[in-house]
Amino acid sequence: MAAVKEHLVSCPRCGKGSPWTTENAYRPFCSERCKLIDLGQWASESYRIPLPETQQQPPDNNDET
Ligand SMILES: [Zn+2]
Repeated sequence: MAAVKEHLVSCPRCGKGSPWTTENAYRPFCSERCKLIDLGQWASESYRIPLPETQQQPPDNNDET
């Protein structure tokens, strides 16, 4: 009988130890809530970055006379 050692990782969100197993669908987070919170913060931070609107439009060259 081989003893299966549970590999624990610390949740990036709350630091709580969570088992790194295929059964833990939220790894490396400990729970769905921590995963959603972390993803939510990531998303909101990315939304906070202002997108530079540097759409340089070429001048109209109506030189076809
Ligand atoms: Zn957590």
